[in-house]
This record gives sequence, C-alpha cells and structure tokens, in this order.
Amino acid sequence: MPIDDQDDFPELRPDVADRLATLDEESAAQRANALRGGLEEYELDEEDRALLDAATDDVDQITYLPALPVLAIVGRPNVGKSALVNRILGRREAVVQDTPGVTRDRVSYKAEWNDRRFTIVDTGGWEPDAKGIHASVAAQAEIAVDLADAVLFVVDSNVGPTATDEHVVRMLRSSKKPVILVANKVDDARQEPEAATLWSLGLGEPWPVSALHGRGVADLLDKVLTVLPEISAVAKDEVSGPRRVAILGRPNVGKSSLLNKTAGEERVVVDDQAGTTRDPVDEQVELAGKVWRFVDTAGIRRRMNLAQGADFYASLRTSAALEKAEVAVVVLDVSEPISEQDVRIVELVLESGRALVLAFNKWDLLDDDRRRYLEREIEKDLAHVSWAPRVNISAKTGRHLEKLVPALELALQSWDTRIPTGKFNALLAEITAEHPHPVRGGKQPRILFGTQASTRPPTFVLFTTGFLDPQYRRFIQRRLRELYGFEGSPVIVNMRVREKRQR
Ligand code: GDP
Repeated sequence: MPIDDQDDFPELRPDVADRLATLDEESAAQRANALRGGLEEYELDEEDRALLDAATDDVDQITYLPALPVLAIVGRPNVGKSALVNRILGRREAVVQDTPGVTRDRVSYKAEWNDRRFTIVDTGGWEPDAKGIHASVAAQAEIAVDLADAVLFVVDSNVGPTATDEHVVRMLRSSKKPVILVANKVDDARQEPEAATLWSLGLGEPWPVSALHGRGVADLLDKVLTVLPEISAVAKDEVSGPRRVAILGRPNVGKSSLLNKTAGEERVVVDDQAGTTRDPVDEQVELAGKVWRFVDTAGIRRRMNLAQGADFYASLRTSAALEKAEVAVVVLDVSEPISEQDVRIVELVLESGRALVLAFNKWDLLDDDRRRYLEREIEKDLAHVSWAPRVNISAKTGRHLEKLVPALELALQSWDTRIPTGKFNALLAEITAEHPHPVRGGKQPRILFGTQASTRPPTFVLFTTGFLDPQYRRFIQRRLRELYGFEGSPVIVNMRVREKRQR
C-alpha cells in the first residue's frame, strides 16, 4: 500500500463545506429517510434492522458502552492458566506459549459465554521469581485481583495445595472479591477425588476441569456468570459520575509525577457524595472547577519492587485502566526518543476506542537540538494520531498543566459527538459526487445509506452494494474530521455490503 494514498483524494472544497454547513436539516432528514426506505430492496439481516431501528437523530443522545466485567485468572506457574484462557476464548492460538524472559504486551482478552461478554486478565505471561516465590505469586495475583470483578484461582489437582497456594488464598480472602477455585488437570472422572482434597484451601467447592481437553469448562463458565456482575463495578455511576481519565505511558515518563502534581496542588476530593461507590484504586481530583476521576491510580502509586514482572505489570495496568477510562492521557518523555513501546501504548488506546490526549512531558529538559528530532519523530511515529490534542508539559515544574483540562474536554466532546443522519447522508452524497469510488472488477460499489451507529467513539456504518477500498473509507473518515473536527477521538467507519433481494 502506498504510504500516502490519501494524496490521491481531493482537498475539501470550500463550497462543499459551505453547503454542508448551511444545510436545511429537515429536508436532508427527509432525503435520508428516502435512502433508508430504498434499503428495503436489499437483503437485510436482523442486526441490520436493529441498527436501523436504533439510529436516532437526537444529537444529545449518547450511546453508553458500559465497561465489561473483568475476570482475573491467577495461580502458580505451570498450573495451566494460559491453557485455560485459550480454552475459554475457544481459539488455541490466542495466548502464545510463554517464552522465558519475554513479556507479553497483551494480557487482557475479550471473552463471551452464553451471550455475555467479559474481559479476561491473564497473569500467565509473568513468571515470578523463583526465590521468594510465595511473595511474588501473591503480589502478582494481588495486582490482577485489584483490577478484577471476580477471580479464577487455578490449582493443579495432581499436585494438591501447596504452601504458595495457601499464601495466595490469604490474599484472596482479604480482597473480598468473589473467587472460584479451579482444580485443573482433572482429565477424567477417576481424578475427581484428588480435586476434592482442595476443599482444604477453604475457598469452597473446587471446580474440576481439564483446560487441555475442555472437560468441565462449560460448567465452570456457567458458574463464572453467576458471580460476575452484569457490568463492571466501575461503570455504575458512569452516566452521572465524573469523567474517567487514565494516565498511561511506559515506566519513568512521569506518570506519578503528573498525578502528584495535579492531585497534590488541587484538591483531592473526599468521596462522600451519597450513592457513589468509589473504586479504591481510583482518585477523584478537582481540576479547573470540575471533578475528574483518575482511574487506577493505585497502579501508578504502587512502586514495583520486583525487577522481573514490572513490564508485564505495566501492560496489565494499561489494559485495565483503558477498560475503565473514557479518555486516555498518554504521557511521553520528550528527553528520550519516541519508542516502540510508546507507539504500542497509543495503539492500545486506539484499539480500545477511548478518546486520546498526548502529553509531552519533561518539556523543561528540551533543548533546540532535541526539539528538532522530536518534531521529526512525532511526524514519523505519531502521524496516525495527528488528530489527538497535544499538550507540552512539565510535571516537575508544573508548566502548562492547566492545558490538560481543555484538551481532555475537547477529546471527550468529540468522543460524544453525534452527527444527524440527514447531515451524514448529505456528506456522503457530496463525497461521492466529487470523488466516486473507483470501478472494481467492472462494478462500482455504491453507498446506499449511512448512519452513525454509536458515539463513544463515533462509529459510522455504511450500507453499500460492494466492498469499499480501505483508502476510500479513510477518505470518508478524513472528510468527517475536516468537517466536524473530532479532535481527540477515534472515528470508525464500518461497512455492510448488501445484495439486492431476489424476487
Ligand atoms: P512514572 O514511572 O511514569 O510514574 O514516572 P515518574 O513520575 O516516577 O518519573 C520518573 C522520573 O522522571 C522521576 O525521576 C521524575 O522526577 C522525573 N520527571 C517526571 N516529570 C518530569 C519533568 O517534567 N521534568 C523533569 N526534568 N523530570 C521529570
């Protein structure tokens, strides 16, 4: 693919922008309705219908995507945690075999059972220190448990309860989260009595499974659904509560300095409003007269003493914090080159669909030389998120920290934006008039109708007669940004290729 295939597409003409800005919304809505009616000639499935029915022109309507409940899988090394995760996900390749010394970036996975979706956090990628193993297994488990709504504690039934297991059990008990005890490696019924010895751990009934063969896993998942909340505890006060911000970044970029500076100078809000249950790992801070919830700040405040596992923990924290957050502040250290790890964290934010603000920290250390390099690095490595607001700050001196607030507000506003269906279809008509999709295989794919399926982030769906080139979809995305901004928010354009009904 050419590096910049977007260059083939025309610049936005002022007359097009003018026409769209001065659109008569009522007649545009009528035209869109007619296009929508035309869809009846096409084969539509149930999901299409649901999508069309849900389409609304109420610009104030926001689609809430509640945070999925989180299930942590913990246990000693080699008890079969990754095998169990693979089994639950139903695809063998999902979790790669652990290679010693290599930490996995991905530690959380979306899972589904009986139409309920949840997130699995797998701690299998982090092999604790051999010395002090009790403490490090427990510490690892504790971190995962902090971030979870429920826990699967996996034990090897062939080995029985070990001293390390008992160590973890004490921690699990004090966490007060629901825990399901999984007796793994019960490959057939004859081994079940061995699993029964695990009652002695005091965590209730052991669930015998064979992660490798799948035995007992369906029953286990049925049980899991009974203890997992419908939505994660963090999502409860989502509608009215303060907006949720995650501070992300690789180690030492200045996350905790940033948090201390903002939370230290401003008022840390004591949470005594009736009816709000606050997650103890979050902090509420008043900035610019508004209360914000910084999620998973315990994860920032906790200094990782274990040399090993620090990276893994950082990945775990990033995923968990993103799950809870609405907007992510990715902190970068301008005194060092932008690294692959920085780019991966930005990638995780994009995948999560959360709003994004880039904070270039340690600005006090920047000299002219480094500054030139930095500009080039940003152009090279962060061009794909040029829409994200940038703030240049110094957590140490407090420079420009106040600029964070308007950046967050802008990003969240974009994230919540809804474009009325009439307007969107008028835009599509302008786009196809000025630059029709190229003919492919003798046919020209047409866009029949478009609608914004959701906000948070703005997600558009196009009903088409054929596959649209990715470049063309990016072109539509670009036009949407040119016309409506969407600074700080991902914009997603999906497509549904539909065929004419046979008569
Ligand atoms: P974290 O791992 O991302 O939480 O990073 P820390 O907040 O612990 O910061 C790592 C180091 O960078 C510490 O020594 C901080 O004092 C230093 N640091 C953080 N922000 C700044 C800044 O704006 N300017 C300078 N010069 N140093 C900073």
